Amino acid sequence: MVQKRLKTSSSERASLWEKVPDNEWGNWQWQQANRITTVAGLDSLIELTSEERLAITAAGERFKFAITPYYASLMHPTDRSCPIRRQAVPVAEELRAVPDELVDPLGEEASMPVPGITHRYPDRVLFYTSHNCPVYCRHCNRKRKVGDPASAAHRLQLMQGIEYIRGRPEVRDVLISGGDPLTFSDDRLEEIIAGLRDIEHLEIIRLATRNPVTLPQRITPAFVRMLSKYPPIYVNTHFNHPRECTEEAATALGLLADAGCVLGNQMVLLKGINDNPGLVRQMNQWLLAHRCRPYYIFQLDPAEGTNHFRTPIESGLELIRGLRGWTTGMAVPHYVVDLPGGGGKVPVQPEYLVKKEGPVYTFKNYEGETYDYREGVDSPECP
Ligand SMILES: *Cc1c(COP(=O)(O)O)cnc(C)c1O
Ligand code: SF4
Repeated sequence: MVQKRLKTSSSERASLWEKVPDNEWGNWQWQQANRITTVAGLDSLIELTSEERLAITAAGERFKFAITPYYASLMHPTDRSCPIRRQAVPVAEELRAVPDELVDPLGEEASMPVPGITHRYPDRVLFYTSHNCPVYCRHCNRKRKVGDPASAAHRLQLMQGIEYIRGRPEVRDVLISGGDPLTFSDDRLEEIIAGLRDIEHLEIIRLATRNPVTLPQRITPAFVRMLSKYPPIYVNTHFNHPRECTEEAATALGLLADAGCVLGNQMVLLKGINDNPGLVRQMNQWLLAHRCRPYYIFQLDPAEGTNHFRTPIESGLELIRGLRGWTTGMAVPHYVVDLPGGGGKVPVQPEYLVKKEGPVYTFKNYEGETYDYREGVDSPECP
């Protein structure tokens, strides 16, 4: 079997921005300032029916929307099922109430010892910073919070978070999350990272950011120079589809990796977007080729307004079956369900162990063939 390799896609600007000088287009502040946030803005990019316009206005009022010109240019102008469009443009389904959907699906607020910190596991904490993102993903599990200026952490709260970690010697790993922490300026981020690095018992700092996907221009040489002063830094990003694997994204990953950051990808499994083993295999191979290791595939959390993206668990198992054995083991992430109500992440695996009889274990391999493994027995003692 010859697998088709994913080529890095070249991103073309939508005609709306054809005349923008390159230095502006490549500037993340310009990209931020020129985000599409209105139906009128969308109208100049993609084809919309009048029902869609109404739905976008209604859903967009409930859950904020914003799209960078870069990411908007990856959208197909007429195809409603375009994976980029579906991740970024509101639809009427977001307003459909479904039982069991939760504002805070993971009970993150319930396990907050101080505002902005979730301390659920013994040795690591989640640290919320900004609640802004360059693009508000329609599938976000913090959908109600992102984009809400009232929920952004202020300097005092951030300093209290750092002090909390300083007072907990058991914490050896901090995940700086949000929103997207990279919406802060380099100086503001450095203040946080340097404050954390100053804590002796803290071993690793992780940054969770979708900027390499939605605003790769944010990854500048100056930014990565700053990060390189505070190793070890792990950067987990969020690629969901091969169309996001552009030259700009490749450059952003390259800069981060060259600066010594260890890169991982956290994909979210989305119905009709990436519930396709061949597509995920290609994307994961591309990520490995760009020094970013697939880390997690998330089953979608039951967050409000996201039901139209939810797949059966079986779709996730199908992805793992399509990866394990068929490609590099490092391209096989953990498929996890984050248990609603604060149970934490649990891995879900296809069943490879089919039978156990005494010391004999029977397995099925990736091609469906059966093999036995006999456990060792204690050897009799030497006389
Ligand atoms: C996901 C998560 C972590 C990190 O989990 P890892 O499996 O170590 O990546 C930590 N705290 C919370 C609350 C989380 O949801
Ligand atoms: S970048 Fe992350 S936090 Fe921001 S909207 Fe997307 S999924 Fe949510």
